[in-house]
Amino acid sequence: MLKLNKFPFTSILGWSASRYDKFKVCQRQYYYDYYAKNHDFEIEKKELLRLKQLTSVALEIGNIFHDVVKAILLRLVKSPINIDRDKLKIWAKKLAIDYCNKKEFFEVYYKHLEEINTEEISNTVLEYLDRLLDSERFKWILDNAIQQSKDWMIEPDGFGETRINGLKAYCKVDFLMPLGDKIYIFDWKTGKEDELKQRKQLAGYTSFACSHYGKTADDVICILYFLKENKEKIVTFTPDEILSFSESILTETQEMYQFTNDINSNIPKSKESFEKTIQTRICDFCNYKGICIDNEKIIF
Ligand code: SF4
Repeated sequence: MLKLNKFPFTSILGWSASRYDKFKVCQRQYYYDYYAKNHDFEIEKKELLRLKQLTSVALEIGNIFHDVVKAILLRLVKSPINIDRDKLKIWAKKLAIDYCNKKEFFEVYYKHLEEINTEEISNTVLEYLDRLLDSERFKWILDNAIQQSKDWMIEPDGFGETRINGLKAYCKVDFLMPLGDKIYIFDWKTGKEDELKQRKQLAGYTSFACSHYGKTADDVICILYFLKENKEKIVTFTPDEILSFSESILTETQEMYQFTNDINSNIPKSKESFEKTIQTRICDFCNYKGICIDNEKIIF
């Protein structure tokens, strides 16, 4: 498998699509996620970690499916012989139940559900697995790309650190494969389509591929596969679009820098500088609502 460029460790914050997205949705949630562990002494570390690690039914389906796909791809690299679907499904179901039993769910923590229906979660994963294995795209990978599987990049170690516009950024691809003179990037989605958000994430992956493989955007093809709708979408970028994306990374990184007292060591400003969102609908789905919202404001 291909090796990634390595960068020396620095404390400075690195842009990622999810980091900036969180920053825009609610600055306080961003603070809890990225800074509270080492800078908020009002909240017990143990409780903070517990809240940060809460998963949800939707998130966990994505997480399990993601690890199943990773295992399939790694197995194909080791041996291109056909996958025994029945055995795979037994293994995937066990994995799903195991993950669910080990995790604490948002829905249970906040008493929206008494318990999690692990059977339902594993059945959804298996349904998506059938869709993946039956898809034309999967057959295309088996027919065309498997000969070059030694060059596949399957969820590389670390966080996908790269440089965009000279700035630290993280763009961790799930699966990338060179084929001919092109690079294909795959992202299997168990959630809904969110064009703007996903296009930005893919622009990050494309920049990552260009910088690590010495390619231009014209040579990179991103393939999104939506398991729920069982449809794929091909996304590509022109070099100009990637240039303007990299300019936006500069602006977005600088916006986040403004919330630090020391940019290089990434020391945050006070918790109060990170505003709470006024869109209470976002709070309904926030892991930190138990420590963030004043109790008297919780009416039901
Ligand atoms: S509960 Fe609401 S205001 Fe508080 S961190 Fe979460 S989203 Fe932000």
